[in-house]
Amino acid sequence: MTRKYIYIDVYLCNGCGSCSEICPEVFALDDVEKAYLLDCDAEITAKVEEAAIYCAQKCIYFE
Ligand code: SF4
Repeated sequence: MTRKYIYIDVYLCNGCGSCSEICPEVFALDDVEKAYLLDCDAEITAKVEEAAIYCAQKCIYFE
């Protein structure tokens, strides 16, 4: 089975900070208020999935 990775569409990201509140181990906001991954190789845990579900812009995805 091919491993999936976490992606953020930063064009859509509105910097709400919800992902970094739900899962600060993986998501953070940069100085222009766009989310980024602290670890590009991070596991897709339940918290990561929760962050994706609650992302208002639906711009966290797995591929
Ligand atoms: S929850 Fe979505 S819109 Fe909000 S900061 Fe994170 S990636 Fe951006």
